[in-house]
Amino acid sequence: ANKLQSDFESIASHELKTPLASIGAYAEALYGHADVPEVPERREFLGVIRHENDRLLRMVNRILDFSQVEFGNRNLNRRTMKLQDVLDDTLHALAPQSMARHQRFEIDFPVEVPPVEIDPDLVKQVLVNLVGNAIKYGPDGGRIMIEGRERATSVEVSVRDEGPGIPESEVENIFRQFYRVKHEGDDLPEGSGLGLTIVRNIIEMHGGRIEVDGGEGTGATFR
Ligand code: ADP
Repeated sequence: ANKLQSDFESIASHELKTPLASIGAYAEALYGHADVPEVPERREFLGVIRHENDRLLRMVNRILDFSQVEFGNRNLNRRTMKLQDVLDDTLHALAPQSMARHQRFEIDFPVEVPPVEIDPDLVKQVLVNLVGNAIKYGPDGGRIMIEGRERATSVEVSVRDEGPGIPESEVENIFRQFYRVKHEGDDLPEGSGLGLTIVRNIIEMHGGRIEVDGGEGTGATFR
């Protein structure tokens, strides 16, 4: 556990240093010209600082979520809940992001699917991360399909998008901390590579498991 924690901390501090260095450099440049109001790049530099600051904040929050789950400072606070209610909450929270990309949700979650004993805050985090990825990696105007099913001894939820999917050779890697699949050419959407690590940990804490159908070229399914 100690080794894991120190590996984690060294990667985390590396991830944090990059935006901090960029904030520092731009702040320094502005500071150097603090008395010259007509520096044309002023607005641009402030924009970078603000953007990098926001990114850093999101990253720090992500890392704190992660270490809470990973290093066991968080006990499950189980309640008997309908997953549909947690899903509604999640979709509400993510509506601005999906609307900005003109994506639509297709939900098939029958009311008969029975309630389950879950920690609602943590399970919401699972859904936020999975649906958030479907939004992020799915195309503009695409569909995001979410299904709930009762199985023999469990409830199964799947989230499917119409994005590029995940190459078979990468499916094992995506759950590793800070791991992100490299895409040829186009820019990678913002991320930390921690989302799925958190997802898997939370599901396993509940005694569940996660499966992925990479769906390269047609869209990923997380189940
Ligand atoms: P992040 O999205 O912050 O990079 P995650 O841990 O959530 O981190 O995901 C790890 C990687 O798995 C992503 O960088 C991306 O390459 C890949 N991935 C996750 N979800 C999807 C998806 N729905 N479609 C395509 N690739 C995905």
